[in-house]
Amino acid sequence: MPIIFDAHEDIAYNMLAFGRDYTQAVAQTRQKEAKTDIPRQNGTCLLGLPEHRQGNVALAFATLFAVPIRHQIAAWDTYVYRDAEEAHRLYRDQLDLYRRLDEETPADFRLIRNASDLRLHLTNWQDAAETRPLPLGLIPLMEGADAIRTPDELEEWWALGLRAIGLAWAGTRYSGGTGDPGPLTREGHALLEAMSAFGFLLDLSHMDEAAALEALDCYEGRLFASHANAKALLPHSRSNRHLSNRVIRGIVERDGVIGIVPFNAFLVDDWQPSEGRARIGLSHIVAQIDHICQLVGDAAHVGIGSDFDGGFGVESVPSEIDSIADLRKLVPLLAERGYTADDINAIFGKNFIRLLEESLPTL
Ligand SMILES: [Zn+2]
Repeated sequence: MPIIFDAHEDIAYNMLAFGRDYTQAVAQTRQKEAKTDIPRQNGTCLLGLPEHRQGNVALAFATLFAVPIRHQIAAWDTYVYRDAEEAHRLYRDQLDLYRRLDEETPADFRLIRNASDLRLHLTNWQDAAETRPLPLGLIPLMEGADAIRTPDELEEWWALGLRAIGLAWAGTRYSGGTGDPGPLTREGHALLEAMSAFGFLLDLSHMDEAAALEALDCYEGRLFASHANAKALLPHSRSNRHLSNRVIRGIVERDGVIGIVPFNAFLVDDWQPSEGRARIGLSHIVAQIDHICQLVGDAAHVGIGSDFDGGFGVESVPSEIDSIADLRKLVPLLAERGYTADDINAIFGKNFIRLLEESLPTL
């Protein structure tokens, strides 16, 4: 069973905006939320620490995320920011939460700040004699950079453990984003320059193609896409959220990795939540993985970025998936498609682990 690296989980956002307790099993969270509005608002829960352990999901990029007020969904959606000050406060709360989880519940959650943390964490997960329940390793990732008031702040974010930054969700003052097309702004260029000096990983997810292509040209640090699918398989989608083959090739030329999102609307472009999920299966995830591998000629640059509980739940994922534990069901399907055991280990975890080994500070 390969070790799985999930490149996108909105853990802190769910804990703070919806009060979810991810030490609980998925079934317990569902029971607790059965008579609340949460499943309708954010989907029926897919994440729980016991399911991470069952599914061998050892590591995740754990996001800092909040919604700009202009994208507020409804009155219940109060976890929103009006300006950079408010974004800063919400995102700092989330990073503080990850730091608290690491300090207070190290048996459950562990912050991965450097290469030696990563090595130790992986040794524990790989050690067959290790029978205790193992913690989930968290690498903090900022989704949407409005929370960075000025590039001078990067030193503090870095010191607190932030290791990866995506400039956009919707557009930000740094970059065109999903639903808000546009290039990098002048502030965006300045932020990228400052980020590379520290060694932050740049997440191109949600960036408009114009901005992503500019960033591919000018960012001097390492880059990746935590959760984004290939546009080539979504020909009717009107979203600028998906990756063109040109951007995919650009990421791979920079030895980056792309996390495929198992969200039905990003797998089949005419899928509607009202139709149910019977039509969408794991084979649609395999098609996305295979597209990247065929396009670039290897299995060294693709992974999984589930985005589970990131605004959708079990209603909106392929029909064979009931929780994060079920990502492992992709293993035999990839083997049938001709992927070797090494390829499968790479796709599930080693590609992202390689990126981290090469980019995290040594200490
Ligand atoms: Zn996202």
